Amino acid sequence: MKQYIFKVIGVFGLLIYLLSGCRAADPHPTEPQKAEQYTVVEQIQTEGKEAGMTYRLMLDFHEETQRLTGKQEILLENMDIKGPIPLQLWMNAYRYGKKGAFYFPEMRDRIFSKGDSRGYIDIKAVYLEGKAIDYEIEDQLLWIDLPQIEYSKEALHISLDLEIQVPKISHRTGSNDKALWLGNWIPTLGIYQDNQWIVSSYLPAGDPFFTQAADYRLMIATPLAYTVVGSGTEKVEILDDRKITTIEGNDIRDVALAVSRNYKEFIHRTKDGIALKLYSYSLDQKTADAYLKELEKNIDYYGRRIGPYPYEDFDVVETEFMTGGMEYPCMIMISSQNLQDFAKGSATILHETGHQWFYGILGNNQLQDPWFDEGLTTFLQKGYELQADELDAFYKKEKLQMKKALEAWENIALGENLKVYDSWSHYYRVNYRRAALMHYEIYQAMGEEKYEDFLKELYRQYQNKIVAREAFRELCYQYGGKKTVLIFDSYFKKQ
Ligand SMILES: [Zn+2]
Repeated sequence: MKQYIFKVIGVFGLLIYLLSGCRAADPHPTEPQKAEQYTVVEQIQTEGKEAGMTYRLMLDFHEETQRLTGKQEILLENMDIKGPIPLQLWMNAYRYGKKGAFYFPEMRDRIFSKGDSRGYIDIKAVYLEGKAIDYEIEDQLLWIDLPQIEYSKEALHISLDLEIQVPKISHRTGSNDKALWLGNWIPTLGIYQDNQWIVSSYLPAGDPFFTQAADYRLMIATPLAYTVVGSGTEKVEILDDRKITTIEGNDIRDVALAVSRNYKEFIHRTKDGIALKLYSYSLDQKTADAYLKELEKNIDYYGRRIGPYPYEDFDVVETEFMTGGMEYPCMIMISSQNLQDFAKGSATILHETGHQWFYGILGNNQLQDPWFDEGLTTFLQKGYELQADELDAFYKKEKLQMKKALEAWENIALGENLKVYDSWSHYYRVNYRRAALMHYEIYQAMGEEKYEDFLKELYRQYQNKIVAREAFRELCYQYGGKKTVLIFDSYFKKQ
């Protein structure tokens, strides 16, 4: 198998690291160090001013070829960035079709059930402040060297001419004869942390993406018969023989899109005024209503335990993603297959909805810390499905079963880089099941009341930010003392 590449690229990182001296290992493992509480933007924002990041896309959808062409603008406000800067081109993982390195072999038949198919993103030109500039493409990265022309730190405009090809596969981006959908598809700025850019290639394990909250505006032109759904609030206008769908999403971590001439739209407005919408090409009104009713309960539940869902829209979109469901801000993709079975479909919706909080509202480095988003989502999902005594019984049994479930793998520590996982089962058992067990043990050690306060404090402090491992650990210490931190640390040790 092709060697997977994961890069952490230091811009001035190495120099600063050498000047500041090496960090010593924590000498008191049960006393947390000062937690890093940050949004990544804050680290590079101009002093005293609020940093902002806006992505604007104006794209034309070509029905015959399944292509999107047009422009993307990126506006960076009050960010003191010194070039070169990286934009992620994850769509290029699909460039090699079956020969690509974005999936585990055991998923091949499901992903390529319609045959081999390729997708890509082509960057045709890059502009800085409206002037064409040189750039470099390195597989899944676009590097832009900033100092080529004068620009203002208050508002830096980058724009790209691009073409995107959607492949006929069952993945985060893909299509079938009913619809096409795109996830992790637009050129996205890497994360600047500790004086270096963190970027990733599309690894087969987990969700190999690390993004920060930004504002998004999308304008998609399609033939009139199409419905376009995206992360945010959709508005539709007709211009001659084209339908223009505008999607606006503020303070969200990413933007997903689905396009279909077969979607039926089902809407349910919650008592809190959130528009819950289900887009499906296979469900009838009765089943759709049942799903939407259940979804309102899900949103109420997570909102009650963590903090309110802060957006106006939430879309459930039928697609054909190979593992059942995939989360994006304000929008989840659920596979047709799962939706046909109400129990299965509801469980998948419950899980992906939980990610609105753990990954979306509360961000984490998914390349390193999926124990946070997958672990907490899985644990809270169980809290919805089971009564308190059943939850205790479940995790008592799970603890016994875990040993056997993990015996095939040497590396079962949490907090490892995604490249250590050799199969989806390996990743799943460590970051969903074992991590959820850890969260259960933390919950048990804190006691129910303290744990509920802990979740709410997490939400209060880190909404639209990144929860670093050390920050989570410190909050565990505040709410559960040393015994809770000992539980947390034990899961990160190599066995
Ligand atoms: Zn998940």
